[in-house]
Amino acid sequence: MAKLERTNNMILMYSKLIAAAVAIACLAVSGGLFPVWAADIKKKQQQVEQQFRHLYRTIGEKSNTKIKLISGPEAIKMRNGRVPGKRWFATSGQFKFKLTIQDGVDLKVEKLIERLEKLPLPYVRAYEVVSDEKEDGIAVYKSLGGASAHGGKQYINIIPGAGPMVLAHEVGHTLEQKTKESDPEILDKWEAAIEADKVSISNYGDKVRHEDLGEFSKVYAACLDAGEAQLSKLRKLSPARFKLWESILNDVDLSAKDAEVLPRTKN
Ligand SMILES: [Zn+2]
Repeated sequence: MAKLERTNNMILMYSKLIAAAVAIACLAVSGGLFPVWAADIKKKQQQVEQQFRHLYRTIGEKSNTKIKLISGPEAIKMRNGRVPGKRWFATSGQFKFKLTIQDGVDLKVEKLIERLEKLPLPYVRAYEVVSDEKEDGIAVYKSLGGASAHGGKQYINIIPGAGPMVLAHEVGHTLEQKTKESDPEILDKWEAAIEADKVSISNYGDKVRHEDLGEFSKVYAACLDAGEAQLSKLRKLSPARFKLWESILNDVDLSAKDAEVLPRTKN
């Protein structure tokens, strides 16, 4: 009798445990127990960059961009810290620009050119933008204080290991800042495009709007390189950024059509 009672009690205990486990499992499935974790995974899968990352590995393998050296090397002092370096002048399509490599850096100019040729021709305009007087064009430094690259209106500085996708991101900063000269509200327009698209490009881009633009520039380069199917997929996912980035990249003034192209209303 006592034994049977103990067995019954144990059955009762086990069934209560199972019920509790089922309840916890249901909670987890419905997203109640690990909502942050589940949301993170979902967000990452939906981020735009995630859907095109596979293109990065092969970018530029069939690129038509051809760069020709026209003079150099010439010994110069580089903008960052006046360190000694060598400079070349180069052309690609309609663009003229400089290449500068710090002395002692283990990167031949031919290798640098190979990497720069991986980006589609419209991106080469940024190489020209950073090649004004007193600027170094694409400049390779031994180190940039822990960063792999910096990009702006007057410089694209990289370390020897920075690849084409890093360059494509920096081109975003260079061309955005160049556009700002004629269109001071360009970043406000970008922010409106982010809101209109209602989609994240990447976690890094989510930090601040000009990094979102840099990240978009990178993804767009990969899609432009890959062809029309990938481009139209990107256009569908992020139509407002797509239109605005093409106007920045190709130096087209959208101001006359702003109202129609870019909804400025904020929700
Ligand atoms: Zn950046």
